[in-house]
Amino acid sequence: MPKLKGKVALVTGASRGIGAAIAKRLSADGANVAITYAKDAAAADVVVKAIEANGCKAIAIQADAADAAAISSAVEKAVATLGPLDILVNNAGTAIPKKFEDTTLEELDRVININVRGVFVTTQAALKHMNDKGRIINIGSSVGERMMTPGLVPYSATKGAVKMFTQGLSREVGNRGITVNNVQPGPIDTDLNPAAGDWATPQIAATALGRYGHVDEVAALVAFVASPESSYITGANLTVDGGTNA
Ligand code: NDP
Repeated sequence: MPKLKGKVALVTGASRGIGAAIAKRLSADGANVAITYAKDAAAADVVVKAIEANGCKAIAIQADAADAAAISSAVEKAVATLGPLDILVNNAGTAIPKKFEDTTLEELDRVININVRGVFVTTQAALKHMNDKGRIINIGSSVGERMMTPGLVPYSATKGAVKMFTQGLSREVGNRGITVNNVQPGPIDTDLNPAAGDWATPQIAATALGRYGHVDEVAALVAFVASPESSYITGANLTVDGGTNA
């Protein structure tokens, strides 16, 4: 039987990139999956079709991670459609690469509101509907632990916040058997961080493996953390970065 048969997952920011790969992988392992997205309904629909092709139920919900009311209503809609949650993947996130001194207040607010406030609000809403022995999986970043890339100062600070949020929350929900972990990707080829171009060259050089990672390599780690096999892992920061932080 597939490892996640009958489980219900919510993956935020899953119309493209790492989130889409996670949503598809969780359904390949048997989970019914709700996804959120910001703008691209057509891309979200493609992910829904892929989940259904794995024999699972799916729903896509438009909800900007910076909009607390939209997030809360997305969680309610996911639960009303698929049932109480077993797995929450806080994946929605953004970066605005720029010299820190040139970053505007609006840009600072955007990065903080999506990467930190959005994770807080989504998790609060989800915990009301999460089954015992649930899994909360945050997508942080290798730069939340070690910082080698100029131009990502507020972004790395938000991912450091995700790291400590993970560790702190694990202490509060362990009595329900809920685990909270932080998956920290290194450079992964997506629209946010394309593997081609000037920006990519120093990131490749910083890896031990000499290449960008693939979205499926992150999804594989998330699938393990979501599975019953990871039951004694909580409050952990799990890096999938090709050796960037080695
Ligand atoms: P992409 O930009 O490629 O994809 C982002 C996804 O999130 C899309 O589905 C997008 O939906 C959705 N999204 C964007 N903004 C919002 C928002 N405000 N509210 C809700 N959904 C939103 O990003 P990645 O896949 O590269 O990144 C995913 C996560 O992984 C992020 O948290 C990122 O910080 C983290 N990460 C990425 C790394 C990388 O190298 N790629 C490295 C380390 C961490 P839509 O299509 O509708 O815009």
